[in-house]
Amino acid sequence: MPSTDPSLIAGLDPAALFGLSADEPSAAGLWQPPTVEEAAKLFPTWKMLGLLGRGGMGAVYHVHQPDLDREVAVKLLPIEASRDERQVERFRREARTLAKLKHPGIVALHEAGTTPAGHFFFVMEYINGHPLSELIAKGKMDVPRAIDIVRQVCDALAYAHAQGIVHRDIKPSNILIDQDGHARVADFGLARWDKPDASGALELSQTGMFMGTPAYTAPEQARDAAHADHRADLYSLGVLLYEMLTGELPRGVFQPPSRKAGTDARLDNVVQRALQERPEDRYQAA
Ligand code: ADP
Ligand code: MG
Repeated sequence: MPSTDPSLIAGLDPAALFGLSADEPSAAGLWQPPTVEEAAKLFPTWKMLGLLGRGGMGAVYHVHQPDLDREVAVKLLPIEASRDERQVERFRREARTLAKLKHPGIVALHEAGTTPAGHFFFVMEYINGHPLSELIAKGKMDVPRAIDIVRQVCDALAYAHAQGIVHRDIKPSNILIDQDGHARVADFGLARWDKPDASGALELSQTGMFMGTPAYTAPEQARDAAHADHRADLYSLGVLLYEMLTGELPRGVFQPPSRKAGTDARLDNVVQRALQERPEDRYQAA
């Protein structure tokens, strides 16, 4: 085992991290993001305020840009990955996906670039708040709030789906809730496009390849991510709703939220329908 600082990976679910991209199973657990001090050297004209998060493929820093007097979030691809053509292509794809999407429920992209040392990065609007995963962990989800968040994510997904983009990694750590309770969908790193872009690239995943985060992934996406459509996102959203209502993931033969958490029985139908095995039995649109 290469040496890793346990504090960096403590509390993270290795299965979820590894699941981010199963064709690079070791990438997630083994790399260490540059420290805030190291990152500061990469962007000498900006002020590094802290590390906001890290996931399978990037580290996200909180940054102040003095020239524009604005706070932003900078997602940085580690240098090892910046030398790997496929990871670079994926990272650029994520930036290009965000660049296409302009919606109040989706994190906005400002710019993208490369550091003099060769790291790829992109700059997003900074969301002052918390990932939904933290709010769920703190048990801060009442039913109206859960419904409100699902409704907001549905709006954002309906828009993305109308642009031909499937997110494929809807889960609590990829939904950011700001101080006013507004939800933003983030992390389009695994997104699928239904139309080729200028470079002719359509699909970076290969047929039969796993992509996603196991607990949230629709069965057809787990089997073949390349062909899963927008209804896979609606399944993931069903998992998320169940988790917000009950504090647990729907596993195996799961109890409806009303039995588990005493919520309104009408929500059972919503969860049940979103979690149907066959996409044609689910809700058909966000
Ligand atoms: P990964 O692909 O590595 O999972 P994400 O894009 O999901 O990266 O970002 C990782 C974490 O960084 C998020 O869970 C969130 O905590 C934080 N984060 C990402 N983007 C922003 C943003 N625009 N504003 C504030 N925090 C963010
Ligand atoms: Mg993420």
